[in-house]
Amino acid sequence: MDNCVFCKIRKGEIPGTILYKDEDFMIIKNIAPSSKVHLLAIPTEHAPFIADISEKSAELLGKMMSKISHMQEELGLTNGYRLIINQGEDAGQTVSHIHIHIMGGEKLAEF
Ligand code: AMP
Ligand code: ZN
Repeated sequence: MDNCVFCKIRKGEIPGTILYKDEDFMIIKNIAPSSKVHLLAIPTEHAPFIADISEKSAELLGKMMSKISHMQEELGLTNGYRLIINQGEDAGQTVSHIHIHIMGGEKLAEF
């Protein structure tokens, strides 16, 4: 998508710290972290909402979570982590390209 910050990072059109990248998704550092480690796992397919994605990408969300778990130590998440997907206005979604927030590196607030 032309005007999407995450698509632009993937294509190298704007800078981003990419920690992992394959054809299906990438993991980048959040530019404005809300926790000591705050990463974003972003599928290659541009879609704003889970409701919009293809069956292949729906399966990919599960694969992404599995990959994150295998990279846990490498990503600085030795003691655990939290995964969040914001969807829509009430959740405070600001970038209209599905992404999983990966948060950790410290004790996170309970909710
Ligand atoms: P959300 O509010 O769930 O849509 O999350 C969007 C996230 O993307 C926010 O936490 C932003 O800090 C992050 N973000 C926005 N622009 C960039 C960027 N250029 N590089 C890395 N993270 C970004
Ligand atoms: Zn996009």
